[in-house]
This record gives sequence, C-alpha cells and structure tokens, in this order.
Amino acid sequence: MAKDVKRGQVLVISGPAGSGKGTTVSKILELFPDDYVLSVSCTTRKPRKGEIDGVHYHFISGEEFGKREKEHRFLEYARYINDNNYGTPCEFVEEQRALGKNVILEIDVKGGMQVKAKLPETILIMVAPPDAGTLEKRLRGRGTEKEEEIVKRLARGKQELESLQDYEYLVLLPENDVETPARQIDTIVRACGMRIGNYPDFADDFYKENK
Ligand code: 5GP
Repeated sequence: MAKDVKRGQVLVISGPAGSGKGTTVSKILELFPDDYVLSVSCTTRKPRKGEIDGVHYHFISGEEFGKREKEHRFLEYARYINDNNYGTPCEFVEEQRALGKNVILEIDVKGGMQVKAKLPETILIMVAPPDAGTLEKRLRGRGTEKEEEIVKRLARGKQELESLQDYEYLVLLPENDVETPARQIDTIVRACGMRIGNYPDFADDFYKENK
C-alpha cells in the first residue's frame, strides 16, 4: 500500500427491515462516490423484482454458499428468518480498504457483531425511523413482501432494536429527508478516521521525517 493511502474503514449499517437503510446507503454512495463502496453480500434468497445479480446481491445456491463458508470466504454470515443465508465476502472488503475506500456493510445485528469481533475497529451504526408506526408504514409501502413475511420482518426488526446497546451510533431516518442522515453517517466516519488507533506509527514517523 502506498504510504499516502490511508486504509479505508469498515462501517456496518444495521436497522429494521423497511427502515430506509438501503435508501440511506444509496445516498451516501451518491454524495461521496470516491470515499465509499458498498460490500455486495452473497445470499441464497431469490431476487426480488428489480434486483440485479452482482449489484444488490450475489445470488448463489445453498450448495455454493456452503462451499464458500467451508473455504472461509465470508467475513461473517447469518441465517435470516426467511431461512436464507446471507454472507459478506472477505476479499472485496480487504481489497477496497487497501485502496483507501470506506466499505459499507448493510447487514443485520448478528452479522455486525461477528464483524466487530474479527475487526474491532469496525464502526457499528444503527439506523431507524423515528417510531414503530413509521416503520410499519414504510415496510408495507414497499409492497415487495407478502403479509406473512411483513409480520415476521416487523418482529425481527424489534429484535434488532433490542440490540441497540451493543451498537455505537444511532442515526434517525426522518420522513422526506435522505440527505441529512447520509451526511450524519459520513460525519461519524470522518471522526472515527481520526481515532488514534488509525495512526499507530504517527509518533515514530513524525520524528523520523525530521532527521
Ligand atoms: P433482505 O432479504 O431484505 O435483502 O435482507 C434481510 C436482512 O439480511 C437485512 O436485515 C439485511 O441487512 C441482512 N443482510 C443482508 N446481507 C447480509 C450479510 O451479508 N450478512 C448478514 N449477517 N446480514 C445480511
């Protein structure tokens, strides 16, 4: 890695299904295209209408997922309530960090905790609408899931918020304003970029360069 390329950070963005986290992440990528990349997860779930393989997810079979899991190719993985597996490929995260890009992982709390255990410098951010009523309205408004799935996702969302205290930052997603939360997340990441842990050699280099 060239010395002037600062290693990118890893940020996990979690939140109840339907909270608007996907829209927030898209806004971050749109506002700061040079600074962030999205980690595209592998899943055994079938694509929803409009989802593109390699863009929204890498859609793979259960067999292929199991194979990659055995080969330790996931930074983390989890089984979701719809009985499908979701996993974050390691390779992409490492490649992008080396290029100085901040890598966004849009994953659930269980996955976020696994990443934090492996990479303690990970920034854990929870996003949520202002209240449960707004969440339900957004999830139903999306119109992509059957009633049974919606009920399951609402229950799962409640569970996700019960883990809030394990996370580090909370960003609220208000109605009709995607830009404010996207900028707030960028502010968090920039502040975390100044953590002393990101400069392990600073003091040594500081004096070396004066010789
Ligand atoms: P969906 O089926 O709505 O796309 O995603 C269901 C849940 O799985 C969401 O909470 C989403 O954040 C989570 N998810 C997506 N990709 C991953 C992943 O790679 N790992 C984990 N642990 N969760 C993921």
